[in-house]
Amino acid sequence: MPNCQTCGRKWTWMQTVKSLRNICPHCGTKQYPSQASRKKNLISTLILLILIFAANGLFDFSIGWSTVIVIFVTLAMISIHPLFLELSNKEEPYI
Ligand SMILES: [Zn+2]
Repeated sequence: MPNCQTCGRKWTWMQTVKSLRNICPHCGTKQYPSQASRKKNLISTLILLILIFAANGLFDFSIGWSTVIVIFVTLAMISIHPLFLELSNKEEPYI
């Protein structure tokens, strides 16, 4: 779970999921995903997209099943996002 870089307090899973704008629930400071955290997020999203397309090509899912899979993967990514999120006090570039 992420730690606020201003007050040092840890965010709970629920606080992280609810905090779409990354405002610290303890001190109210704006936080940003760290560069390393963004890279992990980007790489995991790309891997998942490749896996979805590969699975779709192998098993020839119907549009209904494809929609269900995309919704499931999106929900899964939202739920594991807090586990890998690291925070920074300032916005860092991607590269
Ligand atoms: Zn804080």
